[in-house]
Amino acid sequence: MIITIDGPAGSGKSTVAKLLAERLKVRFLDTGAMYRAVALAVLQSDAEESDVGAVAAIARDADISFDNETITLNGQGVAAEIRTPHVTAISSVVAANPDVRTRLVELQRAVGHQGSLVTEGRDQGSVVFPDAEFKFFVTASVDSRARRRHRELIAGGSRLTLATVRTQLQQRDARDESREHAPMKPADDAVTLDTSDMSIVQVVDSVASIVEE
Ligand code: C5P
Repeated sequence: MIITIDGPAGSGKSTVAKLLAERLKVRFLDTGAMYRAVALAVLQSDAEESDVGAVAAIARDADISFDNETITLNGQGVAAEIRTPHVTAISSVVAANPDVRTRLVELQRAVGHQGSLVTEGRDQGSVVFPDAEFKFFVTASVDSRARRRHRELIAGGSRLTLATVRTQLQQRDARDESREHAPMKPADDAVTLDTSDMSIVQVVDSVASIVEE
C-alpha cells in the first residue's frame, strides 16, 4: 500500500507523514530530503546551481539514500547539513532540473517497490505514484505556514525574522508551483486538507481515519 502526502513547505506534511507511517507500521519516505541532498552536493562542488548540465551530473553521480530517519549523501549522514537556509533555497532550484527529477523519481519508485510506504513531497501523488491507494494534499495559509517554520527555525538557533521566513517560503512556493516539470499540485484524485486551524494530532487522526476505513 502506498500513501502519498504532498503539499507546500510548512504545511505539516512531514510530521503527519512520519506519524502516520509509525501508526500504520510502514516505512516513511521524505523526498524533500533527497532534493536537499542534491542541493548540498552542488554546494560542496564548484558548480553553480544554475548550471543545468553540471547539476544533472552531480545528481547522477551522487549516492543518496533515505531510510526512515536517516539521509546519507555519499555514505555520510547529512540530516543537519540539509536543513540550512542556503540548502533550503537551492533545493527548489535544483528540483526544477528535469534530469535531477528523473534520477530521484527512479530512487523513490525503487523504495515503493520494496513494500508499503507513506511518502511525502510535492509530486508523489501526481507523478511518482499515480496508482497510490491513498493521496492527500496538505496545505495551510501562508501566514500559519510561515509561523510554524519560524518557530522550528528559532528552536534550532536561527535568528531569521518571521517576515524573512515568510518571504523565503513564498519564493520557494512560487518556484515549486511554476516549474515546467512536475510542478507542485494536488493529484486529481487527492483529498485536500487545510491544516491552518488544525493541530498535528487532528490532521493525523483525519488522514488515518480515511485510510483505516
Ligand atoms: O519538503 P522540503 O521542504 O524538504 O523540500 C525541499 C524542496 O525540494 C522543495 O522546495 C521542492 O523544490 C523540492 N521537492 C520537490 N519534489 C518533491 C519534494 C521536494 O520538488 N517531491
